[in-house]
Amino acid sequence: MGQVVGRFAPTPSGRMHLGNLFCSLLAWLAAKREGGRVVLRVEDLDQERTSPLFARQAEEDLKFLGLFWDEGGSLGGPHGPYEQGKRSPYYQELLDRLEALGLVYPCFCSRAELHAANAPHASDGEVVYSGKCRSLTAEEITLRREKRSPALRLRVPEETIAFVDGHYGLVEQDLATECGDFILRRSDGVFAYQLAVVADDAAMGVTQVVRGRDLLSSAPRQIYLYRLLGFPEPEFAHAPLLLAPDGRRLSKRDRDVSLEALEEKEYTGPEIVGKLAFLAGLLHRPEAVTPQELLPVFSWDKVPREDVCLPQGLF
Ligand code: GLU
Repeated sequence: MGQVVGRFAPTPSGRMHLGNLFCSLLAWLAAKREGGRVVLRVEDLDQERTSPLFARQAEEDLKFLGLFWDEGGSLGGPHGPYEQGKRSPYYQELLDRLEALGLVYPCFCSRAELHAANAPHASDGEVVYSGKCRSLTAEEITLRREKRSPALRLRVPEETIAFVDGHYGLVEQDLATECGDFILRRSDGVFAYQLAVVADDAAMGVTQVVRGRDLLSSAPRQIYLYRLLGFPEPEFAHAPLLLAPDGRRLSKRDRDVSLEALEEKEYTGPEIVGKLAFLAGLLHRPEAVTPQELLPVFSWDKVPREDVCLPQGLF
């Protein structure tokens, strides 16, 4: 078997929060425990909502915790560019390949149409697409194109995708009923996360994807794309989410869990890593430790499957 290649894939839409770092720590440990390498890719597809300043800050924050990567970001490497905002020609190439398979169609539905009250929702809360634009005729498409530019969707078959997640075990998803035809390029021309992430992980030789449980339900869509495009599938392991003490999802807008707030308290990198490792079940006490020192104790078996609430007063 070749070398394990893991990755960090931050979206620079704000400064990383503790949940992002919790996940980055687990991604680093999972790859390094196997003697692997880690690639850093900046997920700035949506250029209006992201900024290179936050991308640089993400690098600083990872380094502060001792989470060093081997390729990508400002280190560069043979598979660049490592910023999704610069990789559109490559995404377009893959889109063309899917189009040539007859699997892509334009969708003119407005947001309101998509969110019509009775639309079924997938497990991640996204709407399962009704298939309204699936069989438009060439004339209908020409007429509609005059009024609005379409999103592009991938036609999915009635097929169940099954895979074994490294942490959550067997996951099965029926593409047609639980996900529906999904977007590859938005109507404003921005490529969709699902396509870009597969394109990049494949091009960057990633063999191990570790990320938050909120993306578990995206994995079957991504596996379907890997198969269509003939790329080798990586292993997936999803991590529980870190929640605020009151059970809320952490957000980049929450100042209390940002690194800025932690810096003000003058925590060192190893102190933060120790607290995160304690929350991940890897340490009995939140004592200061480096990521390197955690390698011998890391095991997915110790990491909880339920989301983890930040205890009041830990940070
Ligand atoms: N860019 C995503 C995030 O910051 C992660 C995507 C992925 O790991 O596949 O949440």
